[in-house]
Amino acid sequence: MANIVPITNEIGDVVDYNYYCSDFCAKQDPNYAGWFGCVENYSAPFCNHCETPLFWIDENDYSTYLGKEKQNV
Ligand SMILES: [Zn+2]
Repeated sequence: MANIVPITNEIGDVVDYNYYCSDFCAKQDPNYAGWFGCVENYSAPFCNHCETPLFWIDENDYSTYLGKEKQNV
């Protein structure tokens, strides 16, 4: 799970997400527009601000990682 900040284009469509370890780090994002909530993370191994390893899920085989390390669950 991770905190995310949606990145929108000029017409307001979400085009990407930045992933953060915490709401504190998410607030460093210029796109921060309020707490978006914790979501499943399928792509970002590290916090976009402080590089803290994040839990994320490889969609191909549903294995769980913390940063670059595969977790045995
Ligand atoms: Zn962080």
